[in-house]
Amino acid sequence: EGIEYSTEPFESLYEVYEDIGSGQFAVVRRCVEKATRSEYAAKYIRKRRVASSRRGLPLEVIAREVHVLQKLHKHQIIISLHQVFDNGQHVILVLELVRGGELFEHISERERLSEEEASAFLHQILLGVCHMHSHDIAHLDLKPENVLLLSKNRQHIKLIDFGLSRVITDAEEVRDLMGTAEFVAPEIVNYEPLCLATDMWAIGVITYILVSGSSPFLGDSQQETFNNVTAVDYTFDTQYFSGTSDLAKDFICRLLVKDVRKRMTAKESLSHPWIQPESEEQEEERRDAQTNMDNFKSYQARRRWKHSVKVVTLCNRLSRSAKLRSQSAELLDSRSSAITLREDQVASGGEINSVTVNDV
Ligand code: ATP
Repeated sequence: EGIEYSTEPFESLYEVYEDIGSGQFAVVRRCVEKATRSEYAAKYIRKRRVASSRRGLPLEVIAREVHVLQKLHKHQIIISLHQVFDNGQHVILVLELVRGGELFEHISERERLSEEEASAFLHQILLGVCHMHSHDIAHLDLKPENVLLLSKNRQHIKLIDFGLSRVITDAEEVRDLMGTAEFVAPEIVNYEPLCLATDMWAIGVITYILVSGSSPFLGDSQQETFNNVTAVDYTFDTQYFSGTSDLAKDFICRLLVKDVRKRMTAKESLSHPWIQPESEEQEEERRDAQTNMDNFKSYQARRRWKHSVKVVTLCNRLSRSAKLRSQSAELLDSRSSAITLREDQVASGGEINSVTVNDV
């Protein structure tokens, strides 16, 4: 059932259009399959040429992402993989095209969001995660950037970016330092074995942010965030949680648990009363509670800002290399002409320091 890597020239079978996203090692472009006129998203992942290089990803790491996507194929909440190409420089994943943008971006454009609506989004995410976990696959990079909407006017969620995903087996322990500080579980910070429950911690963090607009562990520096995570140092500050139901808090509390064996599983969380009310009262409690949209909008605005800072940092680094100066000017021009920040100002922003420039 596995999809073969095609060595045919990608461009002979697909028309390639604009960039629709990028990551550390990948650029994503809209494309159209010539034979069917269907649209897809082509994710170009740069292959590492020399083992000692930091540019690109080793082929076996790319193969892991392909393998995971193949195993999970045809689940409505998980991005589906149509074809794979290898053009020597890149592995190109031809993925189902998602047009609705980030769920969090969509939500921040609304005036109100009840907990009933918020929990319906969580319900979908959990269905996807439950499917992954039933195949012993952990996503390991669940965060708002990787939760997209299929289209703007339909509330259908798609989970993307399986670049860090792993098959979790008893036979082999996976330890790795990865992910984004804000969303990583204590076992990651402590370099302990990763497991399916690692995803459930991230879902706890996502839910906390969704209902309150504040981030439970985020500190002024990455180290401070890590300290907060390992100490499970979070509270339901009344300033942000005055409108939050006890059901929602209970849901979060059962996920932000240090002991991975005591953390709620994906299957258990699907039947938690915040997701699946057991009585009329619980249904009402969820319907009457509102998420903290004012604070959520400012959380989103801060995320957008951090993202622009990342682009600027990248440009600053590039411009240090004389060879790339002209390219960097172009990048600055096209992406962030309005922002002029020096890198030392940027450095005080904490987590932003860890940007790498592999793919430009
Ligand atoms: P990161 O470095 O953040 O882990 P990555 O290099 O693994 O990223 P992805 O996260 O898979 O790359 O993709 C980068 C961006 O491209 C995404 O944030 C998203 O905006 C966009 N994107 C990815 N896949 C799709 C898709 N199927 N449809 C539409 N946009 C997509």
